[in-house]
Amino acid sequence: MFESIGFIGLGMMGLPMSKHLLDAGYNVVGYDVDPEACSKAKANGANIASSPREVAERGNPVITILPNSEIVEDVVFGDEGVMAGAAEGSVLIEMTTAYPMSTLKIAKELEKKSMRMLDAPVSGGVVGAEKGSLSIIVGGDQDLFDQCRFLFEIMGKNIFHMGAVGSGHTMKAVNNFLSGCSMVATSEAVALATKAGLDPKRVVDVLQVSTGRSYSTEWKFPRFVLTRQFDDGFRIELFNKDLDILTRLGRELKVPMFTANMIHQIFGFALSQGYGPKGHTSIAQLIEEWADVKMEE
Ligand code: NAD
Repeated sequence: MFESIGFIGLGMMGLPMSKHLLDAGYNVVGYDVDPEACSKAKANGANIASSPREVAERGNPVITILPNSEIVEDVVFGDEGVMAGAAEGSVLIEMTTAYPMSTLKIAKELEKKSMRMLDAPVSGGVVGAEKGSLSIIVGGDQDLFDQCRFLFEIMGKNIFHMGAVGSGHTMKAVNNFLSGCSMVATSEAVALATKAGLDPKRVVDVLQVSTGRSYSTEWKFPRFVLTRQFDDGFRIELFNKDLDILTRLGRELKVPMFTANMIHQIFGFALSQGYGPKGHTSIAQLIEEWADVKMEE
């Protein structure tokens, strides 16, 4: 293990994360359905495989960071998938923001080939992936976590072991629920203050050092909203998927999730209005439309 590392999903997050492994001297065998993503990884020094199966034949562990659980299942179980190519006893490190029940199903199936799995979703955005400063939130057996920890330390800064397989994905969904709440609530708050005649930059300056602060006031508003850039690299369609995971979990576990369902509806509405491919901070633009005001520095 670790002579050659498989890496599937070379997108906004996977590309910089795999580059850290390459820069640390590891051989990386990459794959993505998008040829452009493969070219970029190749330029970074990765070897490119023609299928997930070939990645698993040539790399152990295999890391996946893909859009959602359905795609992860296809990539793992497909005819040309990871399981078809992996040797008995090899390891899957699944870093997608994924549905924990799907993660448990994958871990169970992998056992048929004595394969082991860690779920290890990340937080910190594209900037965190580029800087190697991600939080990496891991579920799975302690001994496997201990063996793989050094890989996480190459790609991230704050590494947590949460417990059994699936617990990393649960924790990530919980985090993104709060992240979505603060983004929507801050948008409403700043829109209201702006319409009341206050300067939005000044409003955010105050919030940043007062009890209304959050990652949205500290980073997302100054960097992406007030500048009108909205190029945060985390698409509304992916954020909506994360809220879908959280609300599904709420139903599954019979936990009322009033706020989560409301925030999910707002992101769902944004999708219906064509916001899907935009950065998630553009949810502020939707709220601007409703409030008929512009939050601009
Ligand atoms: P992305 O769309 O940029 O990257 C996903 C990559 O997977 C793409 O390059 C795509 O071509 C590839 N892909 C899709 N289907 C595939 C398949 N069948 N086989 C191989 N490759 C396939 O998305 P991203 O922003 O990098 O996000 C990846 C995951 O990380 C998501 O689950 C997301 O929720 C999570 N995440 C994203 C961020 C962020 O800020 N972008 C932050 C934390 C977590």
